[in-house]
Amino acid sequence: MGEVVGGFGIYVHWPYCSAICPYCDFNVRRDRGGDHGDLLDAIVADLSGQANRIGTRGARSLFIGGGTPSLLQPRDVARLIAAARAAVGLDEDAEISLECNPEDRARFADFHAAGVTRFSLGLQALRAPGLLLLGRRHSVREGLEAVERAAATGARVSIDLIYGRDGQSTEDWRGELSEALALGIEHLSLYQLTIEAGTPFARAVARGRMHALDAERGADLYALTQELCEAAGFPGYEISNHARHDAAQSRHNLVYWRSGDWIGVGPGAHGRITLDGGRTATCAYADPQAFARAVAERGVGWERTEALDQAAIAAELALMGLRLREGVDRRRWAALSGGPNAAQLAQLIADGFVIATEDAIRLTPAGRPLADRIAAALLA
Ligand code: SF4
Repeated sequence: MGEVVGGFGIYVHWPYCSAICPYCDFNVRRDRGGDHGDLLDAIVADLSGQANRIGTRGARSLFIGGGTPSLLQPRDVARLIAAARAAVGLDEDAEISLECNPEDRARFADFHAAGVTRFSLGLQALRAPGLLLLGRRHSVREGLEAVERAAATGARVSIDLIYGRDGQSTEDWRGELSEALALGIEHLSLYQLTIEAGTPFARAVARGRMHALDAERGADLYALTQELCEAAGFPGYEISNHARHDAAQSRHNLVYWRSGDWIGVGPGAHGRITLDGGRTATCAYADPQAFARAVAERGVGWERTEALDQAAIAAELALMGLRLREGVDRRRWAALSGGPNAAQLAQLIADGFVIATEDAIRLTPAGRPLADRIAAALLA
């Protein structure tokens, strides 16, 4: 099978967390200490089931996310990696990422021994009030210790931080981010706090007990974030992601942003695969029991699949690709749907939000915070 444009990866979703954070709207379940062996078996079977449908191909990345997959035992992580390798195939130098919470740092060396090559650490804040607000269960010291332990394994390390928190001043964020940039790691994911519907934070905002970040302040904090990261040698290669050099970029997430193919395995996981020559979206049952039942009955955990038409593929290509500093492959966009709206493109270039070359359409620094709106205009 030929090389997939945009790359090919595997996403495995482990839905359990020790506690549910008040801002989170992912497909997560509180881990009440039960035995999740059946779910692990179902995920392993789903890997084989999907591999059989698409034909085995070498994946350049395996991302085990969640939820909190660092709650798994290292032997279970080793089993997932072995199953992915056997069923789907992993490139020899495949990036194997594990999302980890700092509380699980005692297992990091064993995760690395199990095959993990990249730790994505959910620090979220380097200040005690921030951790308290976000409902995190680790302390600042434990977060920093987690970074040290992950780095000591020799694997790549990325940390997640959330900024624009209620009560966090601009100077607080400047200090916190400066400390993060000095940690000696190679990758940071820096997200503005967004208030997701249905979360405890959404209820707190609705009752006036919490302030949501307004657009103007969000833009100022974003600009400060870019400035500090650039100055520290961490240019943003994506709207929220910064790497010290190209090799430190998330190979797995680049598959999403470049509209490559990936299989999504586990409860609620989404995938994009090439089936019968067309691009197909897959979505697995969100409930772990329903997912396991579907795998047992049909070989895969999919609740629904949808064959995407050219316009839908182009829309995803633009929405995801404009997030990247490298931009969207212009020829690919043209081949799918004729390319962007020409009048909108000309206006956005004149306004200084977009740059168009023969090869790519990309956002300027002024355009980057407006990526979704610009994508919508270019797709109109
Ligand atoms: S640990 Fe992560 S996935 Fe789990 S509830 Fe908190 S934010 Fe969501």
